[in-house]
Amino acid sequence: MDINKLKILFTEEQIQARIKELADEMNEFYGNDEVYAICVLKGAVMFAVDLVKHLNMPIKMEFIRLSSYNGGTSTSGKVNAVDISLPDLNEKNVLIIEDIVDTGLTAKFLLDFLNCNFHTKSTKFCSLLDKKITRIADVDADYYGFEVDDKFLIGYGLDYDGYYRNLRYIGYVEKDAL
Ligand code: 5GP
Repeated sequence: MDINKLKILFTEEQIQARIKELADEMNEFYGNDEVYAICVLKGAVMFAVDLVKHLNMPIKMEFIRLSSYNGGTSTSGKVNAVDISLPDLNEKNVLIIEDIVDTGLTAKFLLDFLNCNFHTKSTKFCSLLDKKITRIADVDADYYGFEVDDKFLIGYGLDYDGYYRNLRYIGYVEKDAL
């Protein structure tokens, strides 16, 4: 992939401003109630660390690792739990933090996993990006930053073959330019 073909979709300023708005909504919802913030690695790492910095309630951060992409730009359609070890979440507020909901299969897998294993106080799903148009599973994010089209997005946690997660903005390449 030629980095020069990357077109900017959301600048660093736009991303940070939207994160602050999401955090304001969450601060309102949770008040001073403790929250377990579960970051889905690797893609959500930038978003999760920036988001929690604006949250005011007591937070415990957990990290889990799932994979569904084939390494390049296509999803395998099958979610693998690479590492999903979590503490006891019974009667806890759980906030799942994802980078992007695409087919929704990852979100569904995670929500089903939590449902089967814990009786949480609340479970909320937050994704920075939402590709509603490509949804297969019947899931909706409780909080999302931006709705996006069916483009392959790169940067701010989202990778291309492992690279470019460190970009401070989110860009896209047309699928036929990959
Ligand atoms: P889903 O299970 O909803 O189809 O996909 C979720 C995962 O697919 C995301 O957490 C992300 O890792 C990956 N993904 C989906 N769309 C994109 C995209 O446009 N760019 C990148 N880099 N990853 C994506």
